[in-house]
Amino acid sequence: MHSTMMETPLSLNHLLERAGRLFAGNEIVSRLPDKSLKRHSYGEFYRRTRSLGAALKRLGLAKGERVATLCWNHHAHLECYFGIPAAGGVMHTLNLRLAAEEIGWIAGHAKDRILVVDDVLLPLYRQFAHLHAFEKVLVYPFSGQPVPAEFEDYEKLLAAEDPDRFEYAPHGEDDPIAMCYTSGTTGRPKGVAYSHRSTILHTLVASLADFWGLRGTDVVLPVTPMFHANCWGMPYGAVMMGVKMVFPGPHLHPEDLLDLMKQEPPTLALGVPTIWMSLIQAYEAAQAPGSPNHGRWVLPRGMRSLVGGAAVPESLIRAFDKHGIWILQGWGMTETSPLATVSYPRAELAGAGDDERYRRAAMAGVPAPLVELRLRGDSGVDQPWDGHSVGEIQVRGPFITGSYHEVPVSGEKFTADGWLRTGDVATMDALGFVRITDRTKDLIKSGGEWISSVDLENAIMAHPAIAEAAVIAIPDEKWSERPLACVVAKPGQEAPARESLDKHLLAHGFAKWQLPERYEWIAAVPRTSTGKFWKMKLREQFPK
Ligand code: ADP
Repeated sequence: MHSTMMETPLSLNHLLERAGRLFAGNEIVSRLPDKSLKRHSYGEFYRRTRSLGAALKRLGLAKGERVATLCWNHHAHLECYFGIPAAGGVMHTLNLRLAAEEIGWIAGHAKDRILVVDDVLLPLYRQFAHLHAFEKVLVYPFSGQPVPAEFEDYEKLLAAEDPDRFEYAPHGEDDPIAMCYTSGTTGRPKGVAYSHRSTILHTLVASLADFWGLRGTDVVLPVTPMFHANCWGMPYGAVMMGVKMVFPGPHLHPEDLLDLMKQEPPTLALGVPTIWMSLIQAYEAAQAPGSPNHGRWVLPRGMRSLVGGAAVPESLIRAFDKHGIWILQGWGMTETSPLATVSYPRAELAGAGDDERYRRAAMAGVPAPLVELRLRGDSGVDQPWDGHSVGEIQVRGPFITGSYHEVPVSGEKFTADGWLRTGDVATMDALGFVRITDRTKDLIKSGGEWISSVDLENAIMAHPAIAEAAVIAIPDEKWSERPLACVVAKPGQEAPARESLDKHLLAHGFAKWQLPERYEWIAAVPRTSTGKFWKMKLREQFPK
């Protein structure tokens, strides 16, 4: 027999229509370059997005063609998330933190036809314009200044359209809607293309109560850039539920974020760990009597914070919990849409003490529904979920990429039986909690034994005088490799003596041979284009 269900394709357009109908009165707030706040209703968002779709069609955008964005987090970028696919195009979010040459190369590789760019980012665009010729450049007047005459004015294009007469481009659920390039820490960046289907499934899964748990009354602050794995997919979920969004625009310094959080208190925020490390430091420094910022900020008690993209130190989770903010850790990659695991409270752990609660929260978490996950050991066999056997995480599922855009499928990234090789090394326990110990390329092999750089970093960062720590391998004649800890002291704190740090690590359960060979005191750990600790730079700085 056949199922009697309709064969309605999964479609992003449905989310936009739903938001226009149901949530027209809800708010979208964007912080402008001059730090003032601009407010839009979902009703305006809906109409403007349809106008964008109409304008792109008028410009001759054909199905499957790429429209790149070079934008901060704001309402017009959100319009691109929905308006470009509505016209049948593929939104390609360019990472504005990359070197200009790299952005130009990526735009060329993706064959981006049109570019939507913030006026404040035109100087960056001009640095790579010679590397790739966009047919049209649409400038969004984010600063409110007139758009230079050689470009198309985004606002004028939208104003010339009638949103009521817009018709969605016909599509199937497997058609692409968006693409992102991986940051290319190994080799050239590679493109991942998401479909209507993968996006809808990811959005539904990620919005579950134990994950983002999106509610209509939420206020979401996406600090994660909209070009970083498409803001982890949050904009799609937010529009699906019509929740208020507060976009920080270009102002991502801790003080700016704290000001914004005071003005528009969020109930849910997202960003990489480094953002929250600097934010809590700025906040705590302001608590000291005599601080110039004393009493300036209030942290939104009860807020949940989705943190991922790099390991979240337990000390960070504890520091925020003291202020009534719970950190929810997720693990994933651009290739996995990105949310693949989330650490959430499990029924089996009811009644567990605080230490156990924090320990679990500092893990990457449990595989999401629809994500299959296995740990492959060196010998090619699956490792048991016993909490200590180590293997590479391999994943498979309907929102996991099965290839890269215009790159032949290779055994380096995909297994013969079709799983994605993540390059992350982890253990899993009987409850299915993943604990990332390293990226393959960050592993430290000392005297034939692995030392987890992540474990060392987290323990060092739990020292009260330490703000940041990144551990890398240095070559060693006898042991082959030894750990080198690059450490940053908290502002106003003396760098602790080596003995104090060693003692602290021994108390955290490290064996003597696992202790860092050396500690190097640095001013700050260098950051990647997505704000993570950049170990490659440290390896260049400390080759031995
Ligand atoms: P890149 O870091 O290269 O810019 P992605 O943003 O796609 O690219 O990052 C994916 C990688 O980030 C993962 O492979 C993993 O190494 C790391 N990562 C993501 N979440 C976590 C986490 N919760 N714990 C540890 N590492 C994480």
